Amino acid sequence: MTLNIGVIGTGAIGREHIRRLSHKLLGSRVVAVTDINLEQAARVVQEEGITAEVYPDGHALVGAADVQAVVVTSWGPTHEEYVLAAIAAGKPVFCEKPLAVTAEGCKRIVEAEQAHGKRLVQVGFMRPYDAGYRQLKAVIDGQRIGEPLMIHAAHRNPSVGEGYTTDMAITDTLIHEINVLAWLLDDQYVSAQVVFPRKTSQALAHLKDPQVVLLETAKGVRIDVEIFVNCQYGYDIQCEVVGEHGIARLPEPSSVQLRSDAKLSNEILVDWKQRFLLAYDVELQAFIDDLKAGQLTGPSSWDGYIAAVTGDACVNAQRSGTIVPITLPTRPAFYG
Ligand code: NAP
Repeated sequence: MTLNIGVIGTGAIGREHIRRLSHKLLGSRVVAVTDINLEQAARVVQEEGITAEVYPDGHALVGAADVQAVVVTSWGPTHEEYVLAAIAAGKPVFCEKPLAVTAEGCKRIVEAEQAHGKRLVQVGFMRPYDAGYRQLKAVIDGQRIGEPLMIHAAHRNPSVGEGYTTDMAITDTLIHEINVLAWLLDDQYVSAQVVFPRKTSQALAHLKDPQVVLLETAKGVRIDVEIFVNCQYGYDIQCEVVGEHGIARLPEPSSVQLRSDAKLSNEILVDWKQRFLLAYDVELQAFIDDLKAGQLTGPSSWDGYIAAVTGDACVNAQRSGTIVPITLPTRPAFYG
């Protein structure tokens, strides 16, 4: 059986997902698209060589009889509205992060989904689907380095646009570490602090870059995450877990090692789309397969909610310069 999918938002990642859902993954086809820019949506349909109807807006797409599942890849502030519309229509929905731009918005989604009585939402946290993070988790869960004590992580981008603000280092960038590190440790955060090192001359005047976020977990693990979004040299994701009797590092993406010009070198990726290319494939294939099996198992709206609560604490910590306590609600049985 082929799952008919409608995609809301045909920008950068929307187009990537349309391509993989149409040409790469098994058991799905894109039958409907929309975007605030309808010309762009029509162009994507044409350029991707698919037969999909262009709907005037997200609500019309959600309501279309042949759309069995919805993928939301529009601008973040629109996510809540479209996810709630999909839940109201009883249709499963894969929503790119953030699930909603406020914790209250995420909570409204969690409540609507629970009132529906069955999981309908998967959030686009793709790192738990990345082969490297899965290997790292297997090492931790297998007790091969003993109990984790510390994590040193880094999230570096070559550069960011003018619209990128200091709090987006949390809400757009760190949000992936917030999700994946809690999953990796099977633990939850209890406090956050943000410190600002010397500012790079490569950042625009309004942006504090780099930043270091210090998180503490319920089990006492201390985490430092460097966010450096004008690092110039590449898109570089680092994660080192220090355990009681060993250290485990996230593997580097594979690349040919070069010996030339009197140098030994490996390429570093520059484009985020390349770094997690396979993880995006695997997360969406899981969404399709889980729907066919009758039960979603990927990152849930609850995961989106607690990431937003943690993100809010980190933004407060940025602004106040203090250590901000994080009180996370108890995970309902509904979310496993
Ligand atoms: P983008 O290139 O700006 O695409 C967003 C698209 O949504 C644009 O075409 C935008 O149109 C459209 N849009 C705005 N308002 C809309 C509305 N009311 N209804 C329908 N479409 C609307 O951004 P992007 O990089 O693809 O990011 C989209 C989302 O995915 C963001 O939430 C982002 O955080 C997330 N994302 C996740 C990852 C990941 O690693 N998981 C990576 C990248 C992005 P205009 O341009 O005309 O406003």
